[in-house]
Amino acid sequence: MEQSQTINKLITHNIKPSLQRIAVLQYLDINKNHPSVDEIFNVLSKDMPTLSRTTVYNVLKLLYSKGLIQMITINEKQVLFDSNMENHAHFICKSCNKVVDLNLPETIKDTQNFMIDNNLIEETHVYYKGMCSECIKNKNYEL
Ligand SMILES: [Zn+2]
Ligand SMILES: [Zn+2]
Repeated sequence: MEQSQTINKLITHNIKPSLQRIAVLQYLDINKNHPSVDEIFNVLSKDMPTLSRTTVYNVLKLLYSKGLIQMITINEKQVLFDSNMENHAHFICKSCNKVVDLNLPETIKDTQNFMIDNNLIEETHVYYKGMCSECIKNKNYEL
């Protein structure tokens, strides 16, 4: 994604496009592998030596509160981040810990803001866990 598109996304969500905010959002727009705070910080701090881990965390919190990114809690050890706001499910491989995007089942698609027992459901998070196709192929897992 072009940097200008990332800047536009920030502006249309009423976020002042500082260098750190542009860098963090662009990292998420380019890397679709659901990175953690530490992964983002480790890569970006190479080019931005004054960047702190706290700043990265605060930028992520801001982007989340403005609805630009989602927080994924599929891995109980760390929160992961995703700038893909389309409805999709997440799958974590129990062998290599990779998190990938999967399509939602048809029954869950397009069901935002519905009621269950008089409770208003605004978000649905679908997490799958198992063995990824590569680990199965590499025989890390016996079928
Ligand atoms: Zn795997
Ligand atoms: Zn995702």
